Amino acid sequence: MKFSEIQYKRPEIDEIKSVCSSACEKIAGAKSFEVADREFENYQKYIKKIMTMLYIAVVRHSINTEDEFYDKENDFVDEVSPQLTEYTESVDKALFESKFKDQLENKYGKLFFKNIELSMKSFSPEIIPQMQEENKLVSEYEKLLASAQIKFDNATKTLSEMTYYKTSPDNDIRNSAWKAEGEFYRSHENELDSLYDKLVKVRDSKAKIMGYDNYVGLGYNEMKRSCFDAHDIEKFRKGVIDYIVPLASELYKQQAERTGAQYPLSFADAALLFKSGNARPSGTSEDILNHAKKFYHELSPQTAAFIDSMYQNEMLDVLSRKGKQGGGYCIELYEYETPFIFANFNGTSGDVEVMTHEAGHAFAFYQAMAVNKIFPIEAVCPTMESAEIHSMSMEFFSWNWAEGFFGNDTEKFKYGHLFGAITFIPYGTMVDHFQHIIYEQPKLSPNERHDVWRKLLKTYMPWMKLDGSPFYGEGMGWQRQSHIYSSPFYYIDYCLAQAAALQFWRLAQSDMKDAWNRYMELVSHAGKLNYLELLKTAGLKSPFDENTLKDIAQSAKVWLDSADKSHLL
Ligand SMILES: [Zn+2]
Repeated sequence: MKFSEIQYKRPEIDEIKSVCSSACEKIAGAKSFEVADREFENYQKYIKKIMTMLYIAVVRHSINTEDEFYDKENDFVDEVSPQLTEYTESVDKALFESKFKDQLENKYGKLFFKNIELSMKSFSPEIIPQMQEENKLVSEYEKLLASAQIKFDNATKTLSEMTYYKTSPDNDIRNSAWKAEGEFYRSHENELDSLYDKLVKVRDSKAKIMGYDNYVGLGYNEMKRSCFDAHDIEKFRKGVIDYIVPLASELYKQQAERTGAQYPLSFADAALLFKSGNARPSGTSEDILNHAKKFYHELSPQTAAFIDSMYQNEMLDVLSRKGKQGGGYCIELYEYETPFIFANFNGTSGDVEVMTHEAGHAFAFYQAMAVNKIFPIEAVCPTMESAEIHSMSMEFFSWNWAEGFFGNDTEKFKYGHLFGAITFIPYGTMVDHFQHIIYEQPKLSPNERHDVWRKLLKTYMPWMKLDGSPFYGEGMGWQRQSHIYSSPFYYIDYCLAQAAALQFWRLAQSDMKDAWNRYMELVSHAGKLNYLELLKTAGLKSPFDENTLKDIAQSAKVWLDSADKSHLL
């Protein structure tokens, strides 16, 4: 079915409540494993429909935030999702406490029950008002960013459209684009500070009600982390500082030499990789969509079936428009066994990354739902540090097809992609480290929070200089990183996934077929295994082992050093 043909009907919260409480009773009172199991299956069929409706409301709202009907429906989703969590958690709890738990665990896997345990530790009906407040604040932040109308180039631009100018090879255009965008954020400084302050406090109070010292422990449990903890993240940080930061600094020094910029770099100069301009897609949006189809057709029979289904059912909305929410995401429409891709094309190489990154998520969802019929829905997607392996590795698998996307800029694209993957890790780790400090000290003032960020910049991004230009140059740039507002502690997951994706990249350089087979093996387990177990299925190394980041840095350095510099001017 085409996305536009799907009928939306607002779910009835009273009906959900009664279906869930009856499922609880039936599972608790079941006289045999078979009965408990059948009741759970019936409940899953129902909840699948409900989740699909809620996600459709979210998608239609983000496609057009000015649509009044779906604006209200999105508010409804914000409002009911904590209640929905309460009802579904009660069913999970009944399952967890069932006499037949061992048999159920046998059928649905250990991780499913481990995740229920973590959910029980991160939710209680007592914190519903805080959760509702949190959702409301996040929506306000997103609305503020979506409403941005920046006067630039004799027109009004959205934040997403500004990216194009922020990477322009023309120094004047690029510098003034960074300045114009910085001024937008700066003019909303009070709102941004106040929204974040409220978010930190509401999350802290949630944690205290749940019996945690602060939000950090609760945040980890909300992310359902079952195979690593904050100590492992500390080890990871050390590896980043010891091996990735020095390589990234060296790469930025080379960039400054190449482009004639001064080192350390301003934010505007750091954005320009090559004097003649960063890699740009060679064709129109239409060309990118067409070549993505060719890429997935040639990559494997499974990816061919996937992309055909996406295009035929119009399960993507990728062109940038006024009123459209920023960023990109991929969401599961369980009832129709299909993902939906949302993005904002803006004429940069990021457009191709959407078709490889978000489509990497989408492919894994499609395999899990439509092909492998993974059950229950909670096991369709692994925790995020693993789900991001699906997407970030797919970006690297596109290398052999890069020419169709980038034409003459192909070498620039590959160099920039690997450069970006390496230099991203310190940034991402810093975003995570920042949040640890903020939630450990929830009483910091907005100014003190900016100071924390500025201090971390020196450790993780020593190639940057604060030149006093508005917002970015003042060390306030964390406020544009939406995850810090909307998805606390999510960001490190990109770094952990990148550490796996770079291992796939290295494998693909020597044996593409072997790399792809390992990837398919990892994808086939969907959300049935945890991060470290999934790495093992593909024969990849854990990034908590110090040597892993060291090896990755070495291989990347060899490739980047030997790249043909005549194409990289
Ligand atoms: Zn992603």
